[in-house]
Amino acid sequence: MGLVCRKGLGDFFLKTKLVDQIFEIQKGRQDSYSKIIQELNTADIQFLISPHQSMRTGIFCHQIKAKHKISFKNWWNFLVFDHRVVRDVELPDPLRQLSLLADSAVEKNQDLRNQLLAYKTNEKPYALGPAGRLSAPPPWASMSLKASFSGADKSFADLKEKLNLQGFDSKRSVLLFPGSVWATKRWTENGFISLGQQLQKKGHQVFVMGGPGEEELADRVSKQILGSQSLAGKTSIFESALLIIHSALVVGNDSASTHLASACETPVIAIFGPTVLEFGFRPWSAENYVVQRTDLNCRPCGMHGHKVCPLGTHVCMKDISSDAVLGVVQMALKE
Ligand code: SF4
Repeated sequence: MGLVCRKGLGDFFLKTKLVDQIFEIQKGRQDSYSKIIQELNTADIQFLISPHQSMRTGIFCHQIKAKHKISFKNWWNFLVFDHRVVRDVELPDPLRQLSLLADSAVEKNQDLRNQLLAYKTNEKPYALGPAGRLSAPPPWASMSLKASFSGADKSFADLKEKLNLQGFDSKRSVLLFPGSVWATKRWTENGFISLGQQLQKKGHQVFVMGGPGEEELADRVSKQILGSQSLAGKTSIFESALLIIHSALVVGNDSASTHLASACETPVIAIFGPTVLEFGFRPWSAENYVVQRTDLNCRPCGMHGHKVCPLGTHVCMKDISSDAVLGVVQMALKE
């Protein structure tokens, strides 16, 4: 199985053995698209499955030869895909993606269709339980990568040496991810700082994490949390996952970090501001918690959040106190 993805993401999918082959695209570079089309067209492709719905991806898929081409249905893509699935907005996104495999072109599609229908009829994926806990995903739709990391002890030992983390204690380690591409989706810096300070005082090891471009934010937060360490920009996605899988808890925003934590099955707290669970992007794991304000009429204010709050208040995040998040942390860590 092969995966076409953005440059920099492939390493994670190869190392976790989710795919056999990767084809990394450099966005905006036409020669990069052409090279991959050429490579793919030398292979005998049975299924081309595209969850991406942009016109650019459609044009890309049009140029690849495959026995069946499957994607979500929209008004123009009948020109490209011979199998088009209606994107069910009522399903959580992992199940929406799986629904592409429920298409008639794919073997055993009826079983999956039945499972999806039963889930939609019987489950309440966005109903918050005590401390904002959400239900676990069904086993047939698990995203768990635990098995992929079972032989990665040596990689983790090497990572600890590389990052100088010899004293890393899995039972006490809490990872904070303060970043998000969209500014309004970030909980406040002061919130993360205050939470981190309280966690350090309670004897936890706090690490502030982030991807490329989030180093300054992570460093600012970490500097205010005595004894914490910023690892932002120092780890690949695979290395971040290694740290996550060996940690007690992850706290982040509605962003990639909390989805990675879900896949690692590490307990995760996701703080939601301008976006809502009903968009389908809830943490998808057995032990996950959501902190959010449910009393604001302005939520949601956009599919992805904005760079600045349209009302200028940003109360969806500013009014979430560190004490409120700490209460959920204590529940998640069973303290
Ligand atoms: S409009 Fe409301 S939901 Fe949107 S960013 Fe502002 S406070 Fe948050």
